[in-house]
Amino acid sequence: MLSEQGQDIPIIALPQNRHILTRLLQQLAYELKRDIPFTVLLKAVPDEAPLIADPSSPAVHVVSPASAQILEGIWRVLPGTRSSLKTALHSLVLDDLTIAGLSPRVSRKLRSRNSHFRQLLKAARELIDPAQWDTLLKDVGLGSYCSQDSWPPDDDECSIPAEYLSCLNQAVAFSRPADPVDQLRRWGNRSTRLSLEKRVPSLLTQQALKVLPDKRVLGAVLNAFTGEMNGIRGEELHLWKRWSDGSYRVVHYSNLYVYGRVRCLQPACHAWVASLEAMLHLLHLDNAWQVSEIECSCQTQTGHCILALQPLGEADSTNDQWPNVRARLALALYRLPSPCPPALARPKCKARMPIPHWHQVKGA
Ligand SMILES: [Zn+2]
Repeated sequence: MLSEQGQDIPIIALPQNRHILTRLLQQLAYELKRDIPFTVLLKAVPDEAPLIADPSSPAVHVVSPASAQILEGIWRVLPGTRSSLKTALHSLVLDDLTIAGLSPRVSRKLRSRNSHFRQLLKAARELIDPAQWDTLLKDVGLGSYCSQDSWPPDDDECSIPAEYLSCLNQAVAFSRPADPVDQLRRWGNRSTRLSLEKRVPSLLTQQALKVLPDKRVLGAVLNAFTGEMNGIRGEELHLWKRWSDGSYRVVHYSNLYVYGRVRCLQPACHAWVASLEAMLHLLHLDNAWQVSEIECSCQTQTGHCILALQPLGEADSTNDQWPNVRARLALALYRLPSPCPPALARPKCKARMPIPHWHQVKGA
């Protein structure tokens, strides 16, 4: 079939359970102020995620040939929407971090835990207008989760396809087109709070307090955070590293939020930033650290994203803020009276500690 300009018109079938392109087509039609001529069925949208492990490399992703074929068809008719599918020649995650000792890796299981996805659905359900819920979920290919009765069970089985989280990410962004960044930040904040409230006492609590000596507190917190995410994925894909200037890098290899997203100029994983900020807030550390995404797969197509935690104020690793940070951490986690933190090392003080409870921390 030919367009008026003599171009081949792409012919796409959108199966019932995967309407991931529907919203894109609606947006394009709105911006172009005309219907888009997708009229005849020829090629089904592939079941695999658009971003897949590069079969020739253990470290990077590529756009799946089947998805590239679909996108190429769209771009032939709408050349203004064309973007590159090539991986950036240089990236922090594949170059600089590798030199620093963090080896790139790619998810092989491509799954995440049921209970985690259920929490993300719950947080999204709280934010999205009920009148929009069904439409948005169907638009992004998650129509089977419109009803809460069909949500995954609250268990540890890893049965959720990795790309579902990026689909849900898009539904949240679409639910507030006037300010999608703020909506994604609210989603990341809420889902993290739900997670921390549920895990009482969480890994975060236990591991942070095990390693209370100075300069180790934030590392312990990040250990707990990345360890929990690795458990959710069933693979070691989330790592952190302390930099010589006192800042930290948190790396999400095969980031759950990038599988179904196209290239953009700016970092786009706002939910991750808000998630780390929520964790720091609960620990009363949010005034001491600034969180930002310094490289996103949406910019590089590597499939990996890097977040940085920069100390606010003095960055000197030897400065004396750490004892105060440690005290605040203990106070936040255990609601201890002020005089107690210096005595944390004494067993008799530990014995008097109340049972940690994240619900109590919320009001601290
Ligand atoms: Zn990102």
